[in-house]
Amino acid sequence: MNAIYLIKFGEISLKKENRNFYEKKLKSNLRRNIEARNAQIKYTDGRFYVETPEENAPQIEKALSRTFGIVGFSRTRRVQKDIEIIKRTAKKVVETLQTENPALAGTTSFKIEARRTDKSFKLNSYEIACEIGDYLMDQFEGLSVDVHSPDIKIYVEIREEAFIYGNPSRGPGGLPVGTAGRGLLMLSGGIDSPVAGHMMAKRGLKLDCVYFHAYPYTSEDALNKVKELAKILSPYIGGTNFFVVPFTETQLRINERALPQEVTLLMRAGMVKIAEILAHRNRAACLVTGESLSQVASQTLESITFTGSAAQMPVFRPLMGLDKEEIIQRARAVGTFETSILPYDDCCTIFTAEHPLLKPGMERMWNSWNSLEIEQLLTQAADKTERHYVHPIFGYDTSQSSE
Ligand code: ATP
Ligand code: MG
Repeated sequence: MNAIYLIKFGEISLKKENRNFYEKKLKSNLRRNIEARNAQIKYTDGRFYVETPEENAPQIEKALSRTFGIVGFSRTRRVQKDIEIIKRTAKKVVETLQTENPALAGTTSFKIEARRTDKSFKLNSYEIACEIGDYLMDQFEGLSVDVHSPDIKIYVEIREEAFIYGNPSRGPGGLPVGTAGRGLLMLSGGIDSPVAGHMMAKRGLKLDCVYFHAYPYTSEDALNKVKELAKILSPYIGGTNFFVVPFTETQLRINERALPQEVTLLMRAGMVKIAEILAHRNRAACLVTGESLSQVASQTLESITFTGSAAQMPVFRPLMGLDKEEIIQRARAVGTFETSILPYDDCCTIFTAEHPLLKPGMERMWNSWNSLEIEQLLTQAADKTERHYVHPIFGYDTSQSSE
């Protein structure tokens, strides 16, 4: 038996002239996220369906809940257009909902939403709803009708066949990745940057990830942790390139020549500059970071004014107005939190000064930058950067092509 899912769009349905563009993108993103699992996308009567062999259903549900642009999806049953069969199927749908969510068992309210596009079917929508409603009231004790805010909604659609489904599961919402262009996420091993990437992808940005690795000051374990974070993000961002920049020489030069209180800021500026070189080479038009206003010394207004001025392209910082608690909640929902709190240091903590500058002046900082004579090291670091493609389903696999 095949599992069939009806997919619901959110914001896309509000788009007018551009709707086609958004739908096409969503379809190709979905295809990339599910087709490797032997699932098919079908489009009939203005609706998207995904059909897959039963054994793949759990992976497909996981993929649907990670594909931006989808607000909800429902496991749909497809049966013959026979009212007796439809009634029994509606009963099964209620039973499944109650098993999955015990709060819906016992005393609950329901409503039937019936639609008939096949006008040759002998009952009209109202009659279908009444027949099934009466039948369900007989079958379940404690079930009552509530047409305004029911706990359970059963949808019945009579088309080329009959489709019956219940309350939808939540999708991630947002817009399909790729509809807003391409960006480069500066991904560290912390809690914040994966969440920042997730938020920007939700607005349709396709993302690659870059990590600055200062081996041996930062360990293989630290690198593997960030690699794992990129893998968790990958289905949300439609597959991703994970870039590893060898950052040791740049970091040592800064450490050697700069005042201790300026080290962190200069190092951040160096990261931003290298990230911008890589972004240009990979057709990305913006950078994304996990900075949040005043969270640490390098994220005060003055500090981000300096580090942001190291790039010509826009630097998006979607966490700017969020508290750490809120960021943690989001990290849990995305699924990155447990990996982010593994105890491997990133390069920033190792070279941190005791009293970093809180209000750096631009002129002073750019003078210090110039005394580093570091531009060539930055280009070399960009040239020696490694790229790994992370497939949304299979993860790191060198046989998968990048895009
Ligand atoms: P995070 O939790 O994302 O690591 P943080 O609160 O630890 O953030 P910082 O260490 O100051 O903050 O880093 C600020 C931002 O700079 C990070 O969110 C990330 O976008 C970027 N960044 C820091 N270190 C690295 C790194 N080694 N590689 C790539 N990006 C980095
Ligand atoms: Mg960090």
